[in-house]
Amino acid sequence: MVHIGLTYNENHDLHDPVLNGFPGPENPDRLNQILDYLAKKDIFNNETCSVYNSDPALLEDILRVHVREYVDLVRSSTKKSARQLGTDTYLCDASFDVLLQAIGCVLKAGSLVAKGNCDHSFALIRPPGHHAGISNSSGFCVFNNSAILARYLQAEHGLEKIVIINIDAHASDGTYSIFSDDSDVLCISVHQDPSTLYPYKCFTKDIGVYPALGFCINMEMPPRSGNSEYAIFFDEFVIEVLEQFDPDIVILECGFDSYYKESLAQLDLTVDGYYHIVSKLAKRWNTVCLLEGGYHDDLGLLVFAVIEGLMGRKTVVDEVDQVDLLASRDTSTRKIFIKKLSKLRMILDPYWEFSVNSRV
Ligand SMILES: [Zn+2]
Repeated sequence: MVHIGLTYNENHDLHDPVLNGFPGPENPDRLNQILDYLAKKDIFNNETCSVYNSDPALLEDILRVHVREYVDLVRSSTKKSARQLGTDTYLCDASFDVLLQAIGCVLKAGSLVAKGNCDHSFALIRPPGHHAGISNSSGFCVFNNSAILARYLQAEHGLEKIVIINIDAHASDGTYSIFSDDSDVLCISVHQDPSTLYPYKCFTKDIGVYPALGFCINMEMPPRSGNSEYAIFFDEFVIEVLEQFDPDIVILECGFDSYYKESLAQLDLTVDGYYHIVSKLAKRWNTVCLLEGGYHDDLGLLVFAVIEGLMGRKTVVDEVDQVDLLASRDTSTRKIFIKKLSKLRMILDPYWEFSVNSRV
């Protein structure tokens, strides 16, 4: 039977934009809503899922990715009156402790899978991490959770080949910047066309740098892309690349702002779309999910759908009629998507083999 490990940072409430003076979309309600939903669904400690406690991360875990000057800046900035690291990145008195505990949950989720205690896991943590670079915060992100986990799995568990996949609506620019020259960590980010959305980086042409050309992959999804475009991308592209790379583990930067109800982005994934992506990956590879963005009221429902995807057993019902969804789709979206996918295959043709001709 499949076993899923869940972790969450209990002190996340202390990282709250209201404590810093202003309300904001990245706030404790996000994770509280998820935990309430999962409790109602009796997902904690049933025969398939277990919640695991974790210790706060050590500084050395963070320093495998981030430079010491930046880590010191984050810590000292929590004590200042103007506790702001960047335009979108706020800090509170206890933020450094929250960050250590969040990363501790991430590392625990990874080690549960690496040791074989669980088949898959999900770290339900805040704040998110995928925009953070080695010496910078960005877009609500302070430390890069998935990068810290990848380096930890290599250093402490001897894993060699790791895949990080981002399905957040926003490009995983921080993760890209950290691994752009590392061919042991394959990064695939599928996100809304960054010419239309923050961080305005990570275009199809960006494929990493020597000696790891082709090991950073960015797919630009045109606005209004939904379940069928994502299914094509995963079924006919991601799975083929992953089969060639043959990873020891998959880290999924699981953002829920690609959902059709998200006001901060313009993508159309629904419950079924998330389930399909996750079940497809989890069927073949041990998968560690990390919570990234998503700022609407259905986060609990989507986390539940992802957990069911990890289990490979679907009871959750999509409220969106898929036939309606297809019928109402703007047909130009599909055309632009197919063009962008062909271009991606063509650019990556020297590095990966594709069964579909890249020039079709
Ligand atoms: Zn996002």
